[in-house]
Amino acid sequence: MEDASGFRGHADRIFTPASAVEVASILAQAGEQRVPVTVLGAATGLTGGGIPQGGWLISTAKLARLEILPGRAIAGPGLLLKDLHAAAARTRQLYAPDPTEITASLGGTIANNASGSRSFRYGATRRHLLALEAAFMDGTLRRFQRAEKVDFDVSPIPLPNTTKNTAGYPLSPAMDWIDLIAGSEGTLAVVTEAELQLLPAAEELLAGVVFFPSDIEALAAVDSWRPIPGLRMLEYFDRGSLNMLRARYSEIPASAGAAIFFEQELSSPSDIDPWPDRLHQARADQNASWFAVSDADRERFRLLRHALPEMVNDTVRRNGFMKLGTDFAVPLHRNGEMLALYHRTLGDAFPGRYVVFGHIGDAHLHANILPASQADFDRGRELILSLAREAVRMGGTVSAEHGLGKRKAPLLEVQYASEHIDAMRAVKSRLDPHWLLGRGNLFPPH
Ligand SMILES: Cc1cc2nc3c(=O)[nH]c(=O)nc-3n(C[C@H](O)[C@H](O)[C@H](O)COP(=O)(O)OP(=O)(O)OC[C@H]3O[C@@H](n4cnc5c(N)ncnc54)[C@H](O)[C@@H]3O)c2cc1C
Repeated sequence: MEDASGFRGHADRIFTPASAVEVASILAQAGEQRVPVTVLGAATGLTGGGIPQGGWLISTAKLARLEILPGRAIAGPGLLLKDLHAAAARTRQLYAPDPTEITASLGGTIANNASGSRSFRYGATRRHLLALEAAFMDGTLRRFQRAEKVDFDVSPIPLPNTTKNTAGYPLSPAMDWIDLIAGSEGTLAVVTEAELQLLPAAEELLAGVVFFPSDIEALAAVDSWRPIPGLRMLEYFDRGSLNMLRARYSEIPASAGAAIFFEQELSSPSDIDPWPDRLHQARADQNASWFAVSDADRERFRLLRHALPEMVNDTVRRNGFMKLGTDFAVPLHRNGEMLALYHRTLGDAFPGRYVVFGHIGDAHLHANILPASQADFDRGRELILSLAREAVRMGGTVSAEHGLGKRKAPLLEVQYASEHIDAMRAVKSRLDPHWLLGRGNLFPPH
């Protein structure tokens, strides 16, 4: 078995429980028998977190209940995000987290505190959780409401100065249980049900894919557009990304050196009026850019955005490698500096064989290398480690949304001092004394 990053593993036994009580009982048995146990959602993860290295596997596929209510939904962890989004939309409501990969399971997105494109306006998954039910290694099943505090002492850890972060446990003395379990990458408990906040859906949306001659104009546009009311998404494609996408989308203008994909929730039709001036001031290629207000056209743009990471992942895997990409975010004012560093470093080492794209509104870009040989892969890994150190030096995070899982677990110590990792380990030991759950995630085996 493998996840979307190409990380492989195997399980000695696979369980597909149909109830939370069953999950709790499997964990109790695993605890008694000292068997490592890993929980898997939809395997769209990019860090190997749900892929076991032996032991038992719990699949959440059968835990997919969904109840939509005014302002909230109650859902099982195996529910796919696309089904949740569609059901919410039928009642004119919005479940805001949208990690672009809508075949992800709800449980996987909670475990990774996933975010994606709309987090520019709405933040990551944690913010949308009203209550969680979770099963622990001692076989207990507990339900936590928002604002219910952890009932043991935790030492605080310093958090990066970014709008999103999901590297390790965000420990603080009076933290909510929900904020500890969410983002813990299946290492502390198995989420068996969640109560989610639903927001009123926007009446009207404007979407655009705006082409620029180069990064310089695109970066300036991002800074000046950030405060636009209702803007919920600011996504970036570099020249390499556009080159790759042209294989499927020949209508991408040949002159474009960068693009920004945006969505704005309109409070009135006149919200569209300032756009021609904005595009002109930003020195965008106004005539070649694309705009949409219909659902069908917006869906085309979404598919274009999603096609890119899919094409990257497919190319890398077809060449026989695992994904080799970054998930760093930096403080907003270091956005341009980080992008320039990516281009300088990767342009020298992998000319024409890397792409940079992603959530530029949050200063959170994914640089992906397309290795052609094992030597390339090894060199790429080294460079990514040095880029991680630079991101942290700028006040950033080594993981804004994908988590660290097994593949990236060594980055935890790039981000945090040993005493802070010890504080996380103490929490892990308290809730999973034999270190059986999600073994290898976050904390590399010694
Ligand atoms: C093309 C592509 C684009 C992507 N874009 C984004 C993006 O923009 N933003 C983003 O955030 N992510 C993105 N991802 C990554 C991925 O979709 C997310 O990490 C998602 O949260 C994984 O969900 P999953 O159900 O597939 O989890 P899995 O891969 O099955 O598991 C991921 C982790 O969650 C744990 N887990 C799963 N279920 C539970 C549970 N019930 N209780 C406790 N732990 C659990 C697993 O043990 C594992 O550690 C992308 C992936 C792909 C392939």
